[in-house]
Amino acid sequence: MLYAFWFRKDLRIIDNNALSVFIDLLENKFNPSCDRILFFYIKNNDKFNYYGKKRVKFLFECLVDLENSLKKYGFDLIILNGSADEVIKKIFNDFDSITLFANKQFEPYCIKRDNLIADLVRARGTFHLFNDAVISEPGSLLKDDGLPYTVYTPYKKKFLNLLNNHLYKEHNSDLARIKKFSNHQYEPGRRITIKDIARKLTQNESVFFKGGRKEALKLLNNFLSDKIFEYDRNRDFPSLNATSLISPHLHFGTISIRECFRLAFDKIKNKNSKGVEVWISELIWREFYYQIAFHFPYVIDGAFKKEYDNIQWENDNDKFVRWCNGLTGYPIVDAGMRQLLKEGWMHNRLRMITAMFLTKDLLIDWKWGEKFFAEHLIDLDFANNNGGWQWSASTGCDAQPYFRIFNPYLQSKKFDPEGLYIKKYLPELSNLNGDLIHKPELELLKPLNYPPPIVDHFKMKELAISKYKEVIKFKN
Ligand SMILES: Cc1cc2nc3c(=O)[nH]c(=O)nc-3n(C[C@H](O)[C@H](O)[C@H](O)COP(=O)(O)OP(=O)(O)OC[C@H]3O[C@@H](n4cnc5c(N)ncnc54)[C@H](O)[C@@H]3O)c2cc1C
Repeated sequence: MLYAFWFRKDLRIIDNNALSVFIDLLENKFNPSCDRILFFYIKNNDKFNYYGKKRVKFLFECLVDLENSLKKYGFDLIILNGSADEVIKKIFNDFDSITLFANKQFEPYCIKRDNLIADLVRARGTFHLFNDAVISEPGSLLKDDGLPYTVYTPYKKKFLNLLNNHLYKEHNSDLARIKKFSNHQYEPGRRITIKDIARKLTQNESVFFKGGRKEALKLLNNFLSDKIFEYDRNRDFPSLNATSLISPHLHFGTISIRECFRLAFDKIKNKNSKGVEVWISELIWREFYYQIAFHFPYVIDGAFKKEYDNIQWENDNDKFVRWCNGLTGYPIVDAGMRQLLKEGWMHNRLRMITAMFLTKDLLIDWKWGEKFFAEHLIDLDFANNNGGWQWSASTGCDAQPYFRIFNPYLQSKKFDPEGLYIKKYLPELSNLNGDLIHKPELELLKPLNYPPPIVDHFKMKELAISKYKEVIKFKN
């Protein structure tokens, strides 16, 4: 029998739900004379071709870190190449039977893949899946009428009503309990080593975000020591660096969502803090979007509100390219896009501004923007990215109403009053001050090598509203 543990978006050995049950099982059932253990990760090149370079680098750093953690207990992390079903079929060449463990992924395409694997394994073993990614497993928190929530505020209310510390307690996944079996690992013939991977790490890519659990804890502790108390007031100001920056870590699971809840609640044990409460609310947005993607899988390639699939987007490719490269002539929009290109990450306020600009000012399909973000974000997370894009494009559940369109100049003045964020990412504008940094005068732009505004915001706003109205009329 092969006891196999498949790491996916849970790249840590601490507080790992499936791993804790796997260890319990091995403690009781493992027979060293005939059984073998395998800890593995599947490197599927089809998927990797889609990932941005910074994201791949981050992921590999997480894998190196995970392997080092496993090594402390005598275990290896085996990287297997291919699609999941190919990998499992190959394992069956060496074993008659397999007990396979993993944590669930709730993205619609992952559920499909896991159903396929479950079918493959069924005849010769068992496939056990556990919830580790969220506090409230999609499907478990429903409205009183049994239907899924589609509005955030009542979802959050019920979530908090049902929340108890049992739901975010630590899972004991201490590998010391099975260290004695580490001489009985399965050694598949051909495999990629972590060293091969580490050698391929793209050296030139931004090092702002580093993968691995140590980095995750550093960021989280730094945030929780003081920034969290000001979070409610500062989180919308991108130049203040006032958010936790843990999104890539939460996505790849170098830190557990339970840890985040535990540590946050610890902070308000003795004193109330609006900052902590608001941060917990953001973590609940993540939970909310996960259950939306689970219950409404068609959001993968369509609007949550289906009538908005009929919007007649202009989809001007030249305008799209200028948006992608931060050359729209709207400094706040361009600064956001340049942050994305430079760091593989973008502040939440800027994600909203740039997404709304693409859809409402350039009249480009939100799916183009969603894909561009997916190709460049280190923290790309299907549910959050899709939810954020549909919120901004007003096509989603509980989204910004279509007629409330951000004025990029006012957003800029309000959330980057001194232009510090703009100047950081648009050095060509560093000598502009006052209102000019938000809306440079055309005369000033010529020598600065910065383009004039790509469109007139006010005209485009009217046009966008009329296009949205058109499809609502169509619906009625
Ligand atoms: C168009 C658009 C695209 C987005 N794409 C992604 C994405 O691919 N991956 C991603 O993790 N987030 C995405 N978000 C949500 C949000 O921008 C990021 O989670 C946040 O900026 C991450 O920074 P942080 O870790 O410092 O967050 P904090 O402010 O410290 O929040 C803590 C955590 O709460 C969760 N969170 C915070 N805000 C949101 C939100 N609005 N929706 C859902 N979860 C949230 C994240 O897991 C985040 O790490 C997107 C938002 C928009 C508007």
